[in-house]
Amino acid sequence: MLGLMQDWPLTVDKILDHAKNWHPNREVVTRSVEGPIERTTYGAIHGRAKRVSNALKAWGVQPSDRIATLAWNTADHIETWYGIMGIGAVCHTLNPRLFPEQLVYIINHAADRIIFVDLTFVPLLDAILPHCPSVERVVVMTDPGHMPQTKLPVVECYETVLEQSSEDVEWGGFEENTACGLCYTSGTTGNPKGVLYSHRSNFIHTLLGLQSTVLGATPKEVILPVVPMFHANAWGIAFGGPAAGSKLVMPGARMDGPAIYELLESEGVTFSAAVPTVWQGLLNHLRENNLKLSTVKRVLIGGAAVPESMIRAFHDEFGVEVLQGWGMTETSPIGTLSNMTPELAALPFEEQLKWRVKQGTPPLGVELKLKNYAGQEMPHDGSTYGRLMIKGPTIARAYFRDEGGEILDNEGFFDTGDVSTIDDHGFMQITDRAKDVIKSGGEWISSIEIENLAVGHPKVALAAVIGSAHPKWDERPVLLIKLKEGEAEDKQEHLDFLVGKIAKWWMPDDVVFLAEIPLGATGKIDKKLLREQMKDYRLP
Ligand code: ADP
Repeated sequence: MLGLMQDWPLTVDKILDHAKNWHPNREVVTRSVEGPIERTTYGAIHGRAKRVSNALKAWGVQPSDRIATLAWNTADHIETWYGIMGIGAVCHTLNPRLFPEQLVYIINHAADRIIFVDLTFVPLLDAILPHCPSVERVVVMTDPGHMPQTKLPVVECYETVLEQSSEDVEWGGFEENTACGLCYTSGTTGNPKGVLYSHRSNFIHTLLGLQSTVLGATPKEVILPVVPMFHANAWGIAFGGPAAGSKLVMPGARMDGPAIYELLESEGVTFSAAVPTVWQGLLNHLRENNLKLSTVKRVLIGGAAVPESMIRAFHDEFGVEVLQGWGMTETSPIGTLSNMTPELAALPFEEQLKWRVKQGTPPLGVELKLKNYAGQEMPHDGSTYGRLMIKGPTIARAYFRDEGGEILDNEGFFDTGDVSTIDDHGFMQITDRAKDVIKSGGEWISSIEIENLAVGHPKVALAAVIGSAHPKWDERPVLLIKLKEGEAEDKQEHLDFLVGKIAKWWMPDDVVFLAEIPLGATGKIDKKLLREQMKDYRLP
């Protein structure tokens, strides 16, 4: 017997409709790419998003066509998203930090027809678009007064287009499994692969995100997503903000410590989300200038492991709670969060840190398990490693155009490529990406764990650990360090700093000081490039 409830397709246009109907005057504040701070509301964004839809229709855009954005976090970018998705076209967020060849590859692979671009990236498009035959039109997201000189053949000015389009358009009316967004993984191995979100998966991810253990957004919250909309959908905030009626503060092109600090304070931000390297920049700025955070209560940090020193600094020096999140483009992206259980919350903060550095437990809607290479399930004892497998309505079941073939196991779980443990509190901890783990004498050494300790040394700006070939042990760890400005090189003090914190056989065989440690397209340390740069290095 079936239930007797209404059929209400879960399509994301309903999220912005809801924001317009029930939170029309809630603000969305943007540091515009042109410079000034701009203010708008969900009501105004809704109307302008509908104009985007009408413009797309006038240009002959059909359901399922891919329309790309190459843009920062701004209110205009939100309008463009909903304008595209509302008529059943697919919003393809391009990551401007990818190498130009990778961008060409993914634009062609997606067969994008139109690209909405911020002023910053017009020169980039000028250079690559001759190699992208599917692109018919480019819309520069600015006003007529700021239109740039460009060699692009068919160029529109966003504000002019909106002015000439009507708000009168129907959204939705299609099946909830219709494709809605497309985001390519940054391709740390092989070519980037496309994750094709559906309306249903994004809608469910939004509900999942509204759990208080996830974003916990409410109309009282003021949220600043530093994490870009092209990095796994800004971790759901461009949907969760309007869904909850939270004020959004969009940082535009500036993610440096001073710029973020200014917005946090001037807009009364209570919650913000970014990768660890961004927070390191903010913490440095706060300390150097003796500043405090007066409104921020919580920060979500994810995309890479969060060093203990960062969790401690936010707590002890600024009274801010760090929520660590783990996820991937393929998981929409929320996978787990480091919420303290009542038992753990009762411990002194110093003892809680043992769990706060872990990636935590999944929210409702996400299933996890650990498997070894033979496919057997591993125990949740906190010490047995396994490949982390994940399942749920917000997890990819295949890549766009079937790249990578079958990606699920026989029980329908997706292999994350992460090696992890799960303890008896249910806390998952990433040991490493399978390809970064250091294999020494048949045992595994976690590069992440050593990095996170090493970066806690006061002279260290960034730390990375890679495996280097060893005749007897196969591989041994090498600690790579970028020092803070003006600090002197002394290998031994960094090794001494690790003594007693890691097993003796994990101790790096060498320390190498680098002027730069490369960051990848999503602001994380680029291990692949680092290994490439260190390929001629030999252990002493
Ligand atoms: P990419 O980093 O390739 O651009 P993703 O953002 O999808 O793409 O990266 C997902 C990966 O990032 C995960 O598989 C995991 O290895 C790593 N990751 C994400 N969050 C965390 C975290 N909190 N701790 C450790 N690793 C993390």
